Amino acid sequence: MLGLMQNQQLLISALIEFADRHHGEGEIVSRRVEGDIHRYTYKDVAARSRQLANALDGFKLPFSARVATLAWNGYRHLELYFGVSGTGRVLHTLNPRLHPDQISWIVNHAEDSVLCFDMTFLPIVKAIHSRCPTIKHYVAMCDADKLPADSGIPGLISYEAWIGAQSSRYQWPSFDENSASSMCYTSGTTGNPKAALYSHRSTMLHAYAVALPDVMCVSARDSILPVVPMFHVNAWGIPYTAAMTGAKLVFPGPAMDGKSIFELIEAEKVSYAAGVPTVWQMMLSHMQTNKLRFSTLKRTVIGGSACPPAMITAFNDDYGVEVLHAWGMTEMSPLGTLCTLKNKHLEMSAADKMKVRLKQGRGIFGVDMKIVDGNGSELPWDGKAYGDLLVKGPWVIDAYFKGEGGSPLVDGWFPTGDVATIDADGYMQITDRSKDVIKSGGEWISSIDVENIAMAHPAVAMAACIGMKHPKWDERPIIAVVKKPGSEVSRDELLAFYEGKTAKWQIPDDVVFVDGIPLGGTGKMQKTKLREMLKDYKLPGV
Ligand code: AMP
Repeated sequence: MLGLMQNQQLLISALIEFADRHHGEGEIVSRRVEGDIHRYTYKDVAARSRQLANALDGFKLPFSARVATLAWNGYRHLELYFGVSGTGRVLHTLNPRLHPDQISWIVNHAEDSVLCFDMTFLPIVKAIHSRCPTIKHYVAMCDADKLPADSGIPGLISYEAWIGAQSSRYQWPSFDENSASSMCYTSGTTGNPKAALYSHRSTMLHAYAVALPDVMCVSARDSILPVVPMFHVNAWGIPYTAAMTGAKLVFPGPAMDGKSIFELIEAEKVSYAAGVPTVWQMMLSHMQTNKLRFSTLKRTVIGGSACPPAMITAFNDDYGVEVLHAWGMTEMSPLGTLCTLKNKHLEMSAADKMKVRLKQGRGIFGVDMKIVDGNGSELPWDGKAYGDLLVKGPWVIDAYFKGEGGSPLVDGWFPTGDVATIDADGYMQITDRSKDVIKSGGEWISSIDVENIAMAHPAVAMAACIGMKHPKWDERPIIAVVKKPGSEVSRDELLAFYEGKTAKWQIPDDVVFVDGIPLGGTGKMQKTKLREMLKDYKLPGV
């Protein structure tokens, strides 16, 4: 017997219609490429998304056609989130930090039909357009009078002229909620990049989950600053959850430096922000140098790479901001776990609470996880046994776009490539990417643990631990360190700093001071590049 409830498809268009009707006055504030601040409301987003939908229909794009973006976090990008997916086309967010050769490869693989871009990225579009035969329309996300006369891009039109000519009345189509809504290519550290193809259903379920109190706890009273880019995994789903809850959205545009982010937080009374550790590192050092304080920021979600304990302490103890450590991946829409305390932790000492907060967090309803050993046997949840982390759930990938790489699943589970422990309370802790873990004398050393200790030293701005070949131990860790400007620490001082903080054999064999650590397109440290940089390095005594 079937239930007798209405069978309404979960579609992204419903989010913006809801925000229009129930939170029409809710604000969206964006720092624009032009440098000024733009503000409008959910009512405006909805009306302009409908204009965009009419404009897309005018291009006669088929259902599931890919509409690509090369854009910062901003209001026009938000309209594309709703307008493109709402009509049944697929929003393909391109990562502008990739090399133009990679971008054109991805565009051709995705067979994008339209490319909408912020003017900042005109040089990229100039570099790739002759190599991207599938793109039939180029749209510059600017006013008509800002369109360069001599762009060299055939048929280039301005976004404002394009949608401005359209009616703001539109009937969003209904279709199967399993239809594709957006896509994002993985960083592609090995081989060619592969795309995760999200569906309306997976996006909507993920949006509900993100709003939960023990996840990001998003409400109509929040003012949210997603520093995490809209070009990578849909800014962790925040644009959808914001429309679902009526939260105010504040977009940083291209200004990602510490000063600009801090000023935006203060000016727009941001209560909650989300980003990767490298962004917060820049903001904290700007605040420390200029002795600044927050007046409204209450919490920040930090993920994408392990959040160093020193950062959690700085936010919490120095600025009264709660850090929510989160873990996920492109293939998971992205959220898998988020770290909030349980009742039993509330009475604990600050030091014990910190041990919990450092973990990547508890599973969210909708993501099932397990850890397995080399034979695929499940390991206990005791906080000690570590193994390969596998996940499954309705917003976890089933297959990559065009079946690239074959089925990624093992008995229905997606292997994340991360190595983790899970404790008896269900808190998962990443010890490493499986390819970054350091295998020393038959034991594993977590590069994240080694980095976290270095990051706690006041003179260290950034630290990356990698394994170096060793004739006796197989591999030994070294730590590459970027010093804070004006700060000093010697190799021996830093190695002495490890004493008593970790087992002796886990202390790195050497410290290498570098000017910078290579970062990938999503702000993650690129250890493959670091290894190349240090290819002539020799371990002491080897
Ligand atoms: P991406 O798909 O590019 O977002 O990268 C996903 C990968 O980033 C994960 O598989 C982890 O290796 C890493 N990652 C994400 N969040 C965290 C975190 N909080 N701690 C440690 N690693 C993380």
